[in-house]
Amino acid sequence: MAQCDLCGSESQLSRSVIEGALLSVCRKCISFGNGVEIGSQPVSRRKVDLAVPEIEEEIVQDYAERIKTAREKNCLTQEFLAKSLGERESILQKIEAGHNEPTINIARKLENFLKIKLIEKIELKSEKKTLIIKDGSMTIGDLLKLAKK
Ligand SMILES: [Zn+2]
Repeated sequence: MAQCDLCGSESQLSRSVIEGALLSVCRKCISFGNGVEIGSQPVSRRKVDLAVPEIEEEIVQDYAERIKTAREKNCLTQEFLAKSLGERESILQKIEAGHNEPTINIARKLENFLKIKLIEKIELKSEKKTLIIKDGSMTIGDLLKLAKK
């Protein structure tokens, strides 16, 4: 057994840098040194990263009307428009009737061709979930169930 450089007590010693000096210290005194700080990152920082908002693209609700109005304004037939976009006429008919929502890909082509706006960017704010955990009373499975709610 060696003696602690700080308090002089005899016990298991660890090395720690304290005020710039490398010392052999006991468990009680090691908390004065730098060694304790290493690797301790604030957990809250990670939570903030998870809450970054996501951007999602969505087709506007009145897409059918917008497409039909723009097409008629330009005196285009459905057949001509479908051919110009490289899509089937039946697909375009369903879209204009409001039966089928266009895919983002088709909506982009329609936007460019007709100079209209069909895609909205929506910011999804991820919900922050705070879990209150009682020590030892919950399993990993319980936590997963809570997180999915
Ligand atoms: Zn000590």
